[in-house]
Amino acid sequence: MKLAGQTALVTGANSGIGAGVAKSLGQAGANVVINYVTKPDDAQAIVDEIKGYGVDAIAIQTDVSKENQVQNMFRQAVEHFGTLDILVNNAGLERNAPFHEMTLQQWQFVIDVNLTGQFLCAREAIREFLRRGPRPDVSRATGKIICMSSVHEVIPWAGHVNYASSKGAIKMLMQSLAQEYGDRQIRVNSICPGAIQTPINTAAWNTPQAMNSLLTLIPYNRIGKPEDIGNLAVFLASDDSDYITGASIFIDGGMTVFEGFATGG
Ligand code: NAD
Repeated sequence: MKLAGQTALVTGANSGIGAGVAKSLGQAGANVVINYVTKPDDAQAIVDEIKGYGVDAIAIQTDVSKENQVQNMFRQAVEHFGTLDILVNNAGLERNAPFHEMTLQQWQFVIDVNLTGQFLCAREAIREFLRRGPRPDVSRATGKIICMSSVHEVIPWAGHVNYASSKGAIKMLMQSLAQEYGDRQIRVNSICPGAIQTPINTAAWNTPQAMNSLLTLIPYNRIGKPEDIGNLAVFLASDDSDYITGASIFIDGGMTVFEGFATGG
């Protein structure tokens, strides 16, 4: 129970990677705030499952791209749990289009949720960490922020320029925060998943042909699961990673070692 006595808030936690991360944090002993924007029943099901691990969990509906809603969510979370120790900035989406056909709305929507949402939540989390100060009996760090980035932090992605731009920007958001708040013992890191089997990328794995094509990009030859990301999130949230801050950790079955070059390029 590496996270016993701590509280985590996971955005976009009623689906895919966020749900997997929330469950792993709960299994490690953390109380969990399940943020969601649609599908309240899915959020409640995750809450019920996490409560079964013997920790507390609540669901809070909030659009992470809206300042007032984010501030209300953190207020509610702190009212319920007393404070917050861990933020997992996970909520994200895609609105894909060839670049010359991409509308400003498609661009702005992805930037608002994937990037501005992480800014708004990180700012509220850091305000709470600074207000509350260290709790050395609970964790060596005063607070931990985990940003859900992507292999598209470094791999360009045709047809997904808005998404890749949002993830590239998260790298600088994360590293600048790690630099600015390291002396206050706030650790900030990114998880950069490759292909993880979730609703965001159903078309990439839901037929044998699509799956075979996907696997040509993955040296380890399997698609990732939300629990793969959950295990890494527990490590990054716990004191086991106390000397890690400002890092982008790739968890991608080797996607970023470029399988296409395995035969000599
Ligand atoms: P998903 O679609 O299953 O989950 C995304 C979650 O974000 C959902 O719960 C959705 O409701 C929520 N969300 C969307 N807009 C929101 C908003 N405005 N406010 C609050 N929540 C909102 O997809 P996923 O694969 O689990 O994606 C989770 C994160 O992982 C995203 O940031 C995504 O970019 C990243 N990621 C996923 C993969 C992958 O292969 N699945 C790879 C790299 C990175």
